[in-house]
Amino acid sequence: MVSFVITLISSFNTSPGAGVQKPSIKTIIIDAGHGGREPGAKGDYSFEKDICLDIALKLGKKMEEEFPDIKILYTRTTDVYPAIKARADFANANHGDLFISIHANAAPKIRHSKFAGYRTQVYYTGKGKKRKKHTRKVPRYNVSYTDNPSHGTETFIWAADRTDEKENSIGSDVLAEDISDSTEYTPDINDPEFKAKALLWTKRFFSKSYLLATMVEEEFVKEGRLSRGVKQRNEKGIWVLQATSMPSILVETGFLTHRPDEDYLNSEKGQEEIANNVFEAVKRYRAATEKQAISSATTAPSSSSENK
Ligand SMILES: [Zn+2]
Repeated sequence: MVSFVITLISSFNTSPGAGVQKPSIKTIIIDAGHGGREPGAKGDYSFEKDICLDIALKLGKKMEEEFPDIKILYTRTTDVYPAIKARADFANANHGDLFISIHANAAPKIRHSKFAGYRTQVYYTGKGKKRKKHTRKVPRYNVSYTDNPSHGTETFIWAADRTDEKENSIGSDVLAEDISDSTEYTPDINDPEFKAKALLWTKRFFSKSYLLATMVEEEFVKEGRLSRGVKQRNEKGIWVLQATSMPSILVETGFLTHRPDEDYLNSEKGQEEIANNVFEAVKRYRAATEKQAISSATTAPSSSSENK
């Protein structure tokens, strides 16, 4: 216990001005969302799980080629469904330095209700012999559904609360796809122990996750995609992000419910571009964090560059 406390204090004192210089990224975990019995979002002709896997494998291949010094690990490489907790456990057991989860989005169809005249409704009042039949006119509506125009990319990060100013500056939105699987264990996010853990994650990894998420969205914009931005969430759907002891992001690569997006996500060109965009972001992130480690190693601890 005593040694644990000392370690904790010394790591606070020396960070970020640590004298020992280590590469900031040694292991990257790539997580293809969903899989197997859990298809995820559905488009007109494709399932999210397949797109996630295709892009994740392309991203991994690129990283293996360009980052020979970094270990690239996958939560899945075939059409299987590892439980969310197993994915986080895998990332932690392998001491990942980054966790990148690949997903595709879906938005519900839009409901249109149009007034279409009146119909006659029959209703009764009273009981027994006093029971009387009445009629009244009620409005009638024609209901139709059209495709949701939502499209583009968004990258999610975990934030335990929004008390921090920086966290406030990030848009918050409801994730359109439902990525929580009702059949598997999910933590009670209102449990105090869970909250404490999630808060600790936010303190340790929020800034770096935010940096990487921002770079991913910037790369998508450079490619000409519509970016819906970096979004924070502290809900069930992405609890895996704070279950990993490392900076973690969840990339929504496009909307399967938007036909041009679905076509792009299913095309070789689209998948290559997305993999390349995420790869470029990781490259920039790596350069930025390693540069930061070098500059903070050469400056006094008091002039911390951590919060730049
Ligand atoms: Zn998903």
